[in-house]
Amino acid sequence: MGKAIEIRINSEQCRGCRRCALACSWGKEGGVNPRKAGIKIHKLEKGAKDRPMINQQCEEEFCGKTPFEDSEKRVPRCVEACLFGALELVEEVDSSE
Ligand code: SF4
Ligand code: SF4
Repeated sequence: MGKAIEIRINSEQCRGCRRCALACSWGKEGGVNPRKAGIKIHKLEKGAKDRPMINQQCEEEFCGKTPFEDSEKRVPRCVEACLFGALELVEEVDSSE
C-alpha cells in the first residue's frame, strides 16, 4: 500500500505573512519571486481572513518527496517556513493499490 505526502491547510491559523510563498520561490528560482510560488495567499473579500492556496505550480514541482521515492522524508519548504501551524504535513495511505 503506498503512502503520499499532502499538505493540510489550516486557514484559521494563517497570519498572512507569506513566508511560505517566499520559501517556495527561493527554492525554485534561486531568488525571491512569490509570483512563481506554488502557494499563494488569497483574501476572498476585503477584510476577510488570509487563505493559503496551493496551485498548479506546486503540483508540477512538489518539493516533498514521498517515503516511497526516498527513505528520507523531506518536509516541503513552505511547511518548514510556516511558523503558525497553518500548513501541516500529513501522510495519506493510498488504499487504491
Ligand atoms: S500559511 Fe503560514 S507562512 Fe504562509 S502566510 Fe500563512 S502563516 Fe504565513
Ligand atoms: S510543497 Fe514545495 S513546491 Fe509546493 S508550495 Fe510548498 S514549497 Fe512550493
